[in-house]
This record gives sequence, structure tokens and C-alpha cells, in this order.
Amino acid sequence: MERTAVDPAAGQSNLGDVLDATDLAVVRYDLAPGEGFPSGLHAHDDQEEVFVVVAGTAVFEHLPRVESWERDAPTGREVTVAASEAVRFAPGEFQTGRNPADADCDLVALALGAPRETEDVRVPAACPDCDAPALALGTDGDASTLDCPDCGGSFEPAPCPGCASHDLGMHLDDDAEPVSRCGDCGREFAAPPLAE
Ligand SMILES: [Zn+2]
Ligand SMILES: [Zn+2]
Repeated sequence: MERTAVDPAAGQSNLGDVLDATDLAVVRYDLAPGEGFPSGLHAHDDQEEVFVVVAGTAVFEHLPRVESWERDAPTGREVTVAASEAVRFAPGEFQTGRNPADADCDLVALALGAPRETEDVRVPAACPDCDAPALALGTDGDASTLDCPDCGGSFEPAPCPGCASHDLGMHLDDDAEPVSRCGDCGREFAAPPLAE
């Protein structure tokens, strides 16, 4: 048995690590007003995720998988999850979340994932070569890549063309379509900017 405090100030946010969990990822998030979970819209093809809102309110962006972003109208939407509520995302469903409060109200949420390890993480962006709908996050040495499991293509993400920031993530735009948004200047791009 392992027992721990749940105190992010003491470095106990990753409860799965602290408790030596073998089959379950457990992370506590404390998000200030306006702050988002660490990544934009993404899906784990090899993991289901549950978020339990402990305090405050979370807004999640949710986007089901489609065969083609060009052909199939995306049906993304936002879901508000209040304290004492929980939400589950199945493997393959895209999601991201944030603390929508504009005043002094922190969001505290527990993120649970099983199985614990995830290696197949996708973003809602089409392959520029073959139009497959969900590029995979990969690495090439120390660099991040976007890889196409369908055709084998590998692409290098570029910084924001507007302000050169590397803080780009996928989000839903006003039409509930997936776009790449710069976290610094707010510009939106139909697809993640890629290096030539
Ligand atoms: Zn491809
Ligand atoms: Zn920018």
C-alpha cells in the first residue's frame, strides 16, 4: 500500500508516480483562471481518460474522429463540467480543457488514464501528403515531429508564422472546426504550420 498527500505545492501532482501506480495514470491539475490543460486538442488512441472536477468549473473542447476534415463536417463542441462532475473520453476522441473563470477561481481536477502508458497520441490535423485525418505526435532525436501512420510521412512543426512563438496547439474555432492557435498572439491557422 502507498499513501500520499495530494499537495501540488509539495510536488505531489503526479499521483501515479508518487503512488507507484502500474496500470493507471493519475495527475492533479490546479489551473488559474484562463489557464488550460497542458496540450491542445489531442486523442490517445491507446488510452481512455476520465477527468474529475474537484473544485471550480472546467470547459472541455470535444471533437469526435472523422474520416476526412474536408469531406465530413466536424461536430466539435464545448462541454462545461462543474465541481463534483466527471467526464470520460474514449480512446480516439479529441479533447482539451481550460479554466474558463475570469476572476479568482482556481480549477482543481484529477485526470485519470488507463492503461498508464500512452504512446499513440494524435492531433486533429490531416496529413499534407495523403489526407489521413489524425497525425501522430512523434520525435526525431530531440525534435518533435508530426508523423502519418498511414503513409509514413514525417513533418517538422514550424513556429507561429505571425510571432515566431512555439506555443501552438489545436483548438476548436467559432465554427467548431479544428484549427491551430498560437497561445501568444492568438492567430489561427487551418492546419499546424510546418517547416518547408
Ligand atoms: Zn499521410
Ligand atoms: Zn503567434
